[in-house]
Parts: sequence; C-alpha cells; structure tokens
Amino acid sequence: MISIKSPREIELLEKAGLIVGQTHNYLKPFIKPGITTKELDKLAYDFIISQNATPSFLNYNGFPASICTSVNEQVVHGIPSDYKLKNGDIISIDIGACYKGYHGDSAWTYAVGDISEKKQYLLEHTEKALFAGLNVIKNGVRVGDIGASISAYAHKHHLGVVKELVGHGVGIKLHEEPDVPNYGKENTGPILKTGMVIAVEPMLNYGTANIFILDDDWTIVTADNKPSAHYEHTVVVLDDGYKILTKR
Ligand code: MG
Ligand code: MG
Repeated sequence: MISIKSPREIELLEKAGLIVGQTHNYLKPFIKPGITTKELDKLAYDFIISQNATPSFLNYNGFPASICTSVNEQVVHGIPSDYKLKNGDIISIDIGACYKGYHGDSAWTYAVGDISEKKQYLLEHTEKALFAGLNVIKNGVRVGDIGASISAYAHKHHLGVVKELVGHGVGIKLHEEPDVPNYGKENTGPILKTGMVIAVEPMLNYGTANIFILDDDWTIVTADNKPSAHYEHTVVVLDDGYKILTKR
C-alpha cells in the first residue's frame, strides 16, 4: 500500500528535505583534497543536529555513520573513514535527515579538485538521468515509466545502470513502498498519485553495470573498478508534475 501524504505531512517532509538540501550546501565548500570522509560525516552530523533533526542513516540497520561517502568506484553505502580525498576523486554523498518523524533523502556526486573528462561525463549524464526520470512524474504515471526513462537515457550515453539498488517511497520511514527501479518498462508497475512521496536515485557506472559488496558488508563497488555516480532527490507527486523536496 503506497501512502498518500496529507498536506500537513507534506509540509514536514518538505522541512526534512530542506534540511537535507541545506546539509549538502553546507558540506560542498569542504569537499576538497585533504579532508577525510570522517570529517565530512562529523560536519554533516553537527549541521543536521543544529537544525533540530537527526541523521536518518545513523544506526539504520546498523550503519555506523550519519552520511554515506562513496569515492570513485564505490557506488553507494561507503562508510566515512580516515581516507583523505585526493585531487581527481569523485565522491557521492548520500544524506538523510529526520524532522519530527519525517525523512528526506538526497544524494549527489561531487568533483574533488580537477577531475578527468570521463568522470565529468559520468557526473553530467547521471545528473541528467535523474531529471530524465523525474520529468515523467505526474499523477497517473506508473513507476515503470520512471525507470524506463532513466535507463533509456543511460544507455544512450553508454553508462551502466545499477539494478540491485532502487529508489523508494519516503515518509515516516526512510524506505517505504513502492520500489522505484532505475530500469523498467513503460506503463508497468504501481500507479503514482498526487501526494505520494518518492526518492528517485539513479546509480550509473562508467563501465559495467555489475557490482559487488566489500567485506565491510556495506560498501558497494563496481565490478570493473570504473567510477560510479549517484544522484537522488525526494519529490512529491503533483497533478501535473512533481515538486523537489530536497532542493539546494
Ligand atoms: Mg539516499
Ligand atoms: Mg534513497
């Protein structure tokens, strides 16, 4: 059962989403060579707490940090560590915040210093793939329409679409129904209705779509070690479109 949020709930989801967007804004100037991913995690924790919210990911299924920091070939769920960012890295930062019981969820991939043309291409087209998915959303479309649009865009640009991880509904739980895959067929899957809130989050790889999980049981990496990017917004479905709740 996919819940339709009340105007009051959408207000709270919007506030949670705004805190997530502001946390991204706050971290951005710190994403430079020399900073450790643990330092970014601490900055994010302090900022989210200062906004009277809590980090959604901390202790979620045992996750040991407030944000996910996934560098280069890491796809998602990277654990903040003593790793110092280097010039030429890319880092996907996934942030969730819970405000008065409601969550916001948004990921973005950032360049550290000067990055290669290949990485630039990957970032540009993964962000555009997110919007290719978002732009089909309105009352009455099906979840498969989103995935079909994302995967068509990705394949046109020769990027691998990670299939094992998917977007999701968002509300009083971080992950609610429905699953929102980044692949699929048009006109299939659950129907989206005005007032539903979902996170759309393509993870695209420069090479193969295949992935595996590291021994820490969290970090997902590309099977061929090529870089991966991740862009995510939480949005509410409207009669004639959608509204981003995790705005920057
Ligand atoms: Mg996320
Ligand atoms: Mg998510």
